[in-house]
Amino acid sequence: MNKLNAEKALIKYQEMKSIIESEGYKLLSKQWEGFRGYYDVECPRNHSYRVQWPNFKRGARCIKCHHENMANDNPNFKGKSRDVHCSEMDIKFKTELTNEGYTFDDDVEKYKNNITKLNVICPNNHDWEVSWNSWSSGKRCKKCFEDRVRKDTEEIRRELDLEGCQLVGEYRGALKTFNYICSCGFPSKTRIKDFRNGTRCSRCRGDRNREKLRDSRIRKLQEWEEQNLGVSEKEKNSPSRE
Ligand SMILES: [Zn+2]
Ligand SMILES: [Zn+2]
Ligand SMILES: [Zn+2]
Repeated sequence: MNKLNAEKALIKYQEMKSIIESEGYKLLSKQWEGFRGYYDVECPRNHSYRVQWPNFKRGARCIKCHHENMANDNPNFKGKSRDVHCSEMDIKFKTELTNEGYTFDDDVEKYKNNITKLNVICPNNHDWEVSWNSWSSGKRCKKCFEDRVRKDTEEIRRELDLEGCQLVGEYRGALKTFNYICSCGFPSKTRIKDFRNGTRCSRCRGDRNREKLRDSRIRKLQEWEEQNLGVSEKEKNSPSRE
């Protein structure tokens, strides 16, 4: 693979990984295998399976979870009465909430089915409501998430300021691109890793390349002059030569 394709493959891979992870899934495969390739993923309940990327994007999710959900949704499936099923799920849901520091009014909040929302308070004291389906697919307090985005955004804004650049909009994590106004005044977008490596807007890149080309032309000309004309150091440095 040439360098450009390797770079594109890395970008595709990171984009795929961030979308899969935003669903609470894990991407186990280590590289981009194309749109027809199969990828190993692990669902939030730790089942692993293989899926093509376009199918995952279209909504293909873990089949084992699907069967488990079916069984949970239909207590008859397991030969249990609805009441027994609900009280089991109530305990299961509340145990998981408690384990992660979420609190709730045990007497008021009751599990009814996997889409009824329970009112809970997150470990950072935000009110939130969540159903078993959202919780078990990896969703957590929305306010905490927004706070993190805001805090990261402020930090990145300061970092860009120091470079004379200006962040536009929000910073949404290392894998996502963000918009900014380059120190040269040109709008651009990039990821934080590239920014930290010193990559700037296309205009700056063009300027730098032109500068490099000009420098090397001047150097070659000087070398040629030294060899062929025997120009002395003194003459070479005098401004009248320009
Ligand atoms: Zn699963
Ligand atoms: Zn919160
Ligand atoms: Zn620039």
